[in-house]
Amino acid sequence: MRIVLLGAPGSGKGTQGEKIVDSFGVTHISTGDVLRAEVASGSPLGLQAKEIMDAGGLVSDEIIVGIARERIGQLDPVKGFMLDGFPRTLPQAEALDAMLDELGQPLDCIVLFDVDNEEIMTRLLARKRADDNEDTIRTRLQVYSDQTAPLISYYRDQGKLRVVKGVGDVEEIFQTIRGVLEDAV
Ligand code: AMP
Repeated sequence: MRIVLLGAPGSGKGTQGEKIVDSFGVTHISTGDVLRAEVASGSPLGLQAKEIMDAGGLVSDEIIVGIARERIGQLDPVKGFMLDGFPRTLPQAEALDAMLDELGQPLDCIVLFDVDNEEIMTRLLARKRADDNEDTIRTRLQVYSDQTAPLISYYRDQGKLRVVKGVGDVEEIFQTIRGVLEDAV
């Protein structure tokens, strides 16, 4: 199973992603986690990314696609994967499709977490990560709607988009996602 989790910051991709990994045994790839590890290690890439991340901006497509290419190249094709936080721009989505086409392993399904902005703001303010202050959150939401939301129609046009309401009981949301994923593969 090869899937992408799509949704605004705070829409539940992290929480549901863990459950998907536990239940389906897919490999979890989070470009945000990779970048945070680079920041923690003090690598040149980390130093470059930190400022952008703290401000709520997007790290360049070139860097991100490089990270994704490296991770995806190392994957066990039998286990499949779940991408979380990638792709975030149209060029990233196109690069991903091209790399998966080359491998003969196209995406099965894209799960869109549908949560309104007010709920997102409440959740993110409660979360308290270094890049979660109110100004940064606004920037991140703006970046999402400008740069990432266009992926919704990109994947809808491919017939691979599935929309899940991301509000309510965590377990109920997961059962909905489980049904969606079982239908998709
Ligand atoms: P996340 O944990 O997915 O919310 O990512 C944290 C931060 O890392 C984002 O706010 C971006 O600054 C950066 N980042 C993560 N993934 C990407 C991506 N696919 N494209 C650009 N920047 C990214």
